Amino acid sequence: MAVLIKNGFVIDPANDMQMQLDVLLENGLVTTVQSSIEPPLECSVFDASGCIVCPGLIDMHVHCFPGGSSLGIDPDKYCLPRGVTTVVDAGSAGAKSFSKFLAYCKTRKTRIFSLLHVSRVGLETAGCATADLPGELESIDDVNEDECLECAKANPDTIVGMKIRLSENIAKQGHNEAEALRRALLITEKIKLPLMVHYSFSTLPHKGVGEELGVPGSLRNGDILTHMYHGFQSTIIDPSTKSIDPVVLESKENGVKFDIGHGMGSFSWTVAELAIKTGNLWPDTISTDLHTESMDGPAYDLTTVMTKLLHLGMPLFDVIKAVTFTPAKLINREKMIGSLTPGAIADVTVMKLVDCDLMLEDCQMHMRNIKQRLIPVAAWRAGERVKIFEPWGTWPNVSESYQCHQSRERTLLHIRPD
Ligand SMILES: [Zn+2]
Repeated sequence: MAVLIKNGFVIDPANDMQMQLDVLLENGLVTTVQSSIEPPLECSVFDASGCIVCPGLIDMHVHCFPGGSSLGIDPDKYCLPRGVTTVVDAGSAGAKSFSKFLAYCKTRKTRIFSLLHVSRVGLETAGCATADLPGELESIDDVNEDECLECAKANPDTIVGMKIRLSENIAKQGHNEAEALRRALLITEKIKLPLMVHYSFSTLPHKGVGEELGVPGSLRNGDILTHMYHGFQSTIIDPSTKSIDPVVLESKENGVKFDIGHGMGSFSWTVAELAIKTGNLWPDTISTDLHTESMDGPAYDLTTVMTKLLHLGMPLFDVIKAVTFTPAKLINREKMIGSLTPGAIADVTVMKLVDCDLMLEDCQMHMRNIKQRLIPVAAWRAGERVKIFEPWGTWPNVSESYQCHQSRERTLLHIRPD
């Protein structure tokens, strides 16, 4: 049946559009976007007065492979009911586990794409519950070019890029980091896909000297640095000057994209404020890094992470672009999703921007007073209405056990507020 979304304020960055318009969905596609559309016969009408209507939200960094790692969440419970119609799984599966991952995706309603992990084991051993197990780069033999290429070529509908994590404790005390990155750059060059890099407790510098590799210095146009605002050892902020490292801005100029990847430890209000103040560095894509350790807070869901960026001063139009058109383009799916262009898949999210007065935490339990909050109201995936609900008990989560869990992270914070 056709769906007519009436009287909403449409924000569609792909078409540089922000005005009150009606949106008609027919046969699973967006067919018309204009003012005052008369409903056709056999049509359900949704009144979006006072709401924002935008393309279905895309979360560029989640972990949605429950059988494949202890981090995995069910996207039909934690993403789709929060207005997120598409998620990109960031490396939960490697070549070894990919067929199992694909089988799981087919059972979900949420549209799922994958950044294939360069290590064949994916994130099998990642996560707090498995902290004593060896990391995915413990053996460099697990990063196998032929296996990655074969897997990516066999699954072009799902694999939209590759993922690597650079941290010394998962790479034989850092010993394998440089070689793993060298292989990852080579593999993604061959298949012409972007590489998403997690770079937190790494032994690699921001920019290598000569042949030496660095992050983001060695990344290329279209590659993605995730966890951009973390405050750990490999932070983009120089703790001695409290300013952004110029290499980071140079990379931005070269086309490297920056992703939030909030997670349980990777979003610091202080780092975000310093990166914006000293480098005007805003995210290209806003993502949750939703997993079992971040879903009940401090990330919660995509609209909460978007709320944090709004609080930091990012314009609403740019916030919406960072969860629609930009991620769609980065994964080369901009004709299909991420816009309300007639002919695109009928993924639509309706949100409200509501006034509030709440203290909202970062990953180190530092608080900011939030005065406005984005919340999902309704969504359609390929023209089919999605049920919106809150999977957690309270928001924000101020339970004692949660604060205790988060306080561990405080000891890791590299940059402290003044
Ligand atoms: Zn992640």
